[in-house]
Amino acid sequence: MADQSRQGAAEETTVWVPALLCRRCVRLLSRHVRDVTGVTSFEVDAARGLLRVRGDVDAGHLRAALASAGFAGDRCEHRRP
Ligand SMILES: [Zn+2]
Repeated sequence: MADQSRQGAAEETTVWVPALLCRRCVRLLSRHVRDVTGVTSFEVDAARGLLRVRGDVDAGHLRAALASAGFAGDRCEHRRP
């Protein structure tokens, strides 16, 4: 009973996304994360650049999805200065 946080399918994956800098990033990223296989829910901590995903998710797939959305680096690539 002390171990309620572990419920098999409800795994959590946290990915650091340093490029998550603006609101546009959050919206864009949310759209792509939703499409990743196995994602049941997710939350974005834009202030710290963290993406927390729940579900049976392959971290490699998640990173690939982020990369294709333009979040591979440490700054937003869709935003022109
Ligand atoms: Zn951005």
